[in-house]
Amino acid sequence: MGLIFYEDFGGKVVYRCRKCDIYLTHQCHLLSEDFVGSSGPAELFHKVYNVRHGPATRRHMMTGGHFARDVFCKRCDTLLGWYYELADRDLQQYKEDCTILEVNLTRKETRENSECFHPDV
Ligand SMILES: [Zn+2]
Repeated sequence: MGLIFYEDFGGKVVYRCRKCDIYLTHQCHLLSEDFVGSSGPAELFHKVYNVRHGPATRRHMMTGGHFARDVFCKRCDTLLGWYYELADRDLQQYKEDCTILEVNLTRKETRENSECFHPDV
């Protein structure tokens, strides 16, 4: 059985998978809390870790056509949200390469003395 490494990039306010508690991202990557997912409120993040992406599919959303991929937890395989690959409209292109996480499927945790860092920014 191989070892699986999960990433944890720190942060004072971190987001975890509600089901298996794996680290997903931290608040510095939060772009907007103003989204709606299939289970209720959702949040847009610039970077999310420890997830895998499903195949790209064409979707028609309220804000126009997009190519998006489902986003699953790497550990427990819960469908957590989706990833924006491409947006048709210029005004929506800020979402490209960003990930939506459903609030009901994640858990926010505040940690003391944990500085976030940005390994790839
Ligand atoms: Zn999980």
